[in-house]
Amino acid sequence: MTILDLLAASVRDRADHTAIVIDGLRITYAQLEERTRRVAAFFASRGFQPGDRLAIFLENEVAFIDAYFGAMRHGLVIVPTNPLYRDRDARIVWEDADVRGIVSGGELAREVGRVGMSDRLIDTSEIAEAAESFPVPDGWTEFDARPETIAFILFTSGTTGRAKGAMQSHNALAASCGQIRTAWHWRDDDVLCIALPLFHVHGLHVAMQTTLAVGATVVIERRFDAEKMREVLLRERATMFFGVPTMYVRFLERVAAGSLPALRLWVSGSAALSAETWNAFKEKFGQEILERYGATETGMCLTNRFRGPYHAGAVGIPFPGIRTRVIDPGSMQDVSDGEVGELLINGPNVFSGYYKNEAATKDAFVVDEQGARWFRSGDLVRFDPPIRSFVIVGRLKELIITGGFNVYPREIEEEVEALPGVKECAVIGLPDPARGEVPYAFVAVEDPASFDAEAMLAKLRERIASFKIPKTVELLDPIPRNAMGKLDKPSLRAMLAERASQG
Ligand code: AMP
Repeated sequence: MTILDLLAASVRDRADHTAIVIDGLRITYAQLEERTRRVAAFFASRGFQPGDRLAIFLENEVAFIDAYFGAMRHGLVIVPTNPLYRDRDARIVWEDADVRGIVSGGELAREVGRVGMSDRLIDTSEIAEAAESFPVPDGWTEFDARPETIAFILFTSGTTGRAKGAMQSHNALAASCGQIRTAWHWRDDDVLCIALPLFHVHGLHVAMQTTLAVGATVVIERRFDAEKMREVLLRERATMFFGVPTMYVRFLERVAAGSLPALRLWVSGSAALSAETWNAFKEKFGQEILERYGATETGMCLTNRFRGPYHAGAVGIPFPGIRTRVIDPGSMQDVSDGEVGELLINGPNVFSGYYKNEAATKDAFVVDEQGARWFRSGDLVRFDPPIRSFVIVGRLKELIITGGFNVYPREIEEEVEALPGVKECAVIGLPDPARGEVPYAFVAVEDPASFDAEAMLAKLRERIASFKIPKTVELLDPIPRNAMGKLDKPSLRAMLAERASQG
């Protein structure tokens, strides 16, 4: 099965149904088929060959959709690029992926010039024109994708080190669509609304691609605004909303109690959803959020059970067809249920490897005695037997080892966030001559003027072990997050390192 097979089936069965609502346009499946056939023929006319890499450097807009499926139908390997990338970040991605073309427009297109690649630029105006009127030559045929053909290369958000290009095959993506569809009982009359960026696996694959594979409708907003999203949900008679935790926090801050429509599914993922937010959302809007866990390399992995019972703070069970193990990253032996270890994932949804990076690909997998390849997620988890669910404890690389004790920043963050008046918290390890590392907490509070760090630490001492108590609490508002709402710990660490170097 390929993504193109799934799309073709939806075009055949759902021709006049709305596939995508974007930029004020309502595009039916038949129209999507026509537009992207023309764009595919346009890429062919410009000398692109199947297998060539094509970057899409755009915000959520119709040209993204036309270029994406147009390129796929001509067999190009798509490299969606974060539109917040500038200079070095963008150049690394485009050089590493050796892109032959970069679709961009407006201000962003100037960035392409700034990194000296304007000869590869395909302006969105050309895509728009091609989608409307490019003459498809007689005898044009769609690229015959094989299951193992690489559909796209997604550069991981790069919260640690140089971004790596994760290659996803048609087969892995098609399998993942099937898993998501089954787990969440997705139907072709569903209407999903999102404001997730399309350059990331969450918006691009989980939301948009799965919608199209199912034959349903996806409404794609350019940016997230809580009040505007409420209007969109009502206007579109939405049945589902997918977002990142920060969006749920914004709904809580900006939208009046009880005024969100009842949807059959609210999904949160890409970063940890705090129990505070889950409970507050339930209380204020009467709705339960389903949390799921995944990564660029694997698509979706774990999900709360559909229709519960929900356990705030837990991410549930593997999607159908996915196997998991939890290992001690030191001994590489499986740990028992209830113990913390690194999550390993095996399934048809797992990526093919990092583009032109055999060393990183090798490191990313553990091969078992039967020859099965297990992806090392880099996330520490615990399988909680009483609720039969996984709990994400934090990133392996963020683990703080203080005086020989393991401290999971997430645990401290949750405790701090549960205190009254705290908006959010980020904990990192600060190098310490005596203890190796000590926890250092950044907090954003509602009323900084009356904030008392000592009183906060005293409250924490009643709840968690002494070695977990942050050595320092620093006010910071907002706490930086990346485009997917993940706490930007590298920049917090860099900030502390810079201060240290300045004495
Ligand atoms: P990305 O490849 O950008 O999608 O990032 C994947 C990483 O996001 C995972 O390895 C986790 O560290 C984190 N992540 C995704 N979903 C969740 C979740 N529900 N709870 C906590 N962390 C998550």
